[in-house]
Amino acid sequence: MLQRARNGNGKTVLLAGGAGFVGSHLCDALLARGDRVICVDSYLTGSEANVQPLMNHPSFRLIEKDICQLEQIDEPLDQIYNLACAASPPQYQADPVHTMMTCVAGTCNLLTLAEQHGASFLQASTSEVYGDPAQHPQREDYRGNVSCTGPRACYDEGKRAAEALCFDMLRAGRADVRVARIFNTYGPRMQPDDGRIISNLLVQALSNEPLTIYGTGEQTRSFCFVSDLVAGLIALMNVDPNPGGPVNLGNPGEFTINELATMVLDMVPTQSQLVHRPLPQDDPTRRRPDISQARNLLGWQPKVPLSEGLRVTADWFAGSLGNPPEEARA
Ligand code: NAD
Ligand code: UDP
Repeated sequence: MLQRARNGNGKTVLLAGGAGFVGSHLCDALLARGDRVICVDSYLTGSEANVQPLMNHPSFRLIEKDICQLEQIDEPLDQIYNLACAASPPQYQADPVHTMMTCVAGTCNLLTLAEQHGASFLQASTSEVYGDPAQHPQREDYRGNVSCTGPRACYDEGKRAAEALCFDMLRAGRADVRVARIFNTYGPRMQPDDGRIISNLLVQALSNEPLTIYGTGEQTRSFCFVSDLVAGLIALMNVDPNPGGPVNLGNPGEFTINELATMVLDMVPTQSQLVHRPLPQDDPTRRRPDISQARNLLGWQPKVPLSEGLRVTADWFAGSLGNPPEEARA
């Protein structure tokens, strides 16, 4: 096992997927805590712009690499967060084999690193492991209703396989592993064209384009603001004792897609109207986390209501689509 080196009170943290939407906010939060961050990212769906302001930070280092090819890191690590994986359905379905391999081979590589370094490991899993859920709201002991043959399977089943790897390593005492099941998260630095619902609706409204509603719009989702999620991820990584099982992280507020579209139309001055498009195959009909475990084990719950987070995100998209001010890190 590599000898661990401590920099002051901070830890050395490897963050795979740190140039992505959630990952870049986690980079900021870890650096603000005094940790040293080694970000590993292939820029598949992330962007250099997300981490560009950190490039001259003395405690930040970027390694441009695919986690499927990552074999070693030549400095001691205390913690590893694995956020590396395309998360939006059009993006993870663009190269489904690579998505599956990222989840399985990539996660396996990072778990091996955790074992070698004696580092704690946090896996960014997903509410998609519940598939189209028959239990509502979803608790961690619900085993899910996932198609293993449909177009979402590369992601859903990939993340389920990654969880299996994580808990095998934990049971075998080979690594201190934690698993967060993340529900839909939004906020500044989402890509405008990632195809997810909040980015689509806000960008469409700001551009006076029709708001695309897939299916009837009566399907539901629960939306968590990114700062709340990041606080939950850090709490889960650092809680003692290790929860020993997956922990849901999400905002239990549940909204239909039609309700969300109405909020967007009320918030953004626009000429846009609604247009209906076919519902994608295997699209889950409802989704809402039971966060009792996160409340009890981590003392965590989200603080930002959807109306507030949506406003911040709309303002950020307005800036990035128009003439972005020399903005502070949002
Ligand atoms: P994102 O696409 O913005 O970020 C993913 C990052 O991982 C990107 O920077 C991308 O370039 C990088 N990446 C992808 N494959 C890689 C590979 N093989 N090797 C190295 N880097 C790779 O997505 P996000 O919304 O920030 O999601 C982050 C994590 O959280 C993902 O693992 C996702 O599955 C999980 N998650 C997110 C949500 C959400 O609503 N945002 C919900 C559930 C789970
Ligand atoms: N959706 C929609 N219009 C869009 C994009 C998505 O109606 O322009 C729907 C999608 O069918 C799903 C929900 O919004 O029911 C959330 O989609 P997203 O891709 O953001 O996340 P996920 O399906 O992975 O939860």
